[in-house]
Amino acid sequence: MPLKNPFTNSLQTITKKDLYIIEIFDQDGNQGFGETVAFDSPWYTEETSATTRYMIEHHLFPLLQEEPVSHPSSLGKRFADVRRHHMAKAAVEGAIWDLYAKREHVPLHRAIGSDNSHVPVGASIGMKQDIPALLEAIQTAMNQGYQRIKLKIKPGQDINLLEKVRTRFPDIDLMVDANSAYTLKDMDHLKQLDQFHLMMIEQPLAHDDFVDHAKLQKEIHTPICLDESIHTMSDVRTALTLQSCQIISIKLGKVGGFAQAKAIHDLCAANQVPVWCGGMLEAGVGRAQSLALATLPNFRFPADPGASSRYWHQDIIKPEVKVENGYVQLPDTPGIGYEIDREALAHYRTERIVCK
Ligand SMILES: [Mg+2]
Repeated sequence: MPLKNPFTNSLQTITKKDLYIIEIFDQDGNQGFGETVAFDSPWYTEETSATTRYMIEHHLFPLLQEEPVSHPSSLGKRFADVRRHHMAKAAVEGAIWDLYAKREHVPLHRAIGSDNSHVPVGASIGMKQDIPALLEAIQTAMNQGYQRIKLKIKPGQDINLLEKVRTRFPDIDLMVDANSAYTLKDMDHLKQLDQFHLMMIEQPLAHDDFVDHAKLQKEIHTPICLDESIHTMSDVRTALTLQSCQIISIKLGKVGGFAQAKAIHDLCAANQVPVWCGGMLEAGVGRAQSLALATLPNFRFPADPGASSRYWHQDIIKPEVKVENGYVQLPDTPGIGYEIDREALAHYRTERIVCK
């Protein structure tokens, strides 16, 4: 699916998304839908859309066939012999959660244990060609009602850029994401971020680091949020023990699905560490599932997955995800709550694989 606008961070410019929609059936003909959220190349994690396809077809699907699935939360155990490949697992698990919720006649957010259906959302804005274009993009997102703005930064496009943004927008809720663009050698430089009263800085240092982030967090007031470093419960325990961060970003695909995401959410809540839901430029199915996750109570900051129309000319769900007054109101219908737009799906589809 071609993105409406290219999205640039410190590592990549993304212009399109290759993804697989998982459609799963039970013996009664009910359907559930999942979505792979990996990018086309392995810049964010080691997974790509091609590896998710391979893992689902050759490893996860055969495991599903071994015996009936009694409850979606049993899949963690079923898939345990496949190391990592969290985005492949999350796509299959998500489809089964959707199917399960439909069988139970409850919305997905209720099936995972939430009684909230109103999700505050923020806008994530990629790097722009110049400051005026960035300021305009922020203004547009504010006009659309988004509750906070997240900017991508890297060395050379940080302090100077934030000075201009804060001059124009002194009071907006603002956060930044470095996608690992810095090292501890930048400590003094990163200390300057404190003057901008940011909600957080996401993943300033290496994608797999905990120790240096702990050293940095001791020296700066801006809360550090770990994103790329967090894939498992064990990663969260490491981060909490070393005090590497004050906030954790949970994404369904990154952590392997709802069961893991909820376990991480609960562990963070027990330790008074707030979490929030980052985005993966999801199409409608992945977007709806991320928003269902973000209804849980320890998601304390506006979520990244906002309106479909921010990203796509046409989404693959009906109705599209809409933002009103800074919130997405999730439908009260069973499962993900959105219908698949078969016409749109057929329009974008380049390949179809049937496993049985
Ligand atoms: Mg991030």
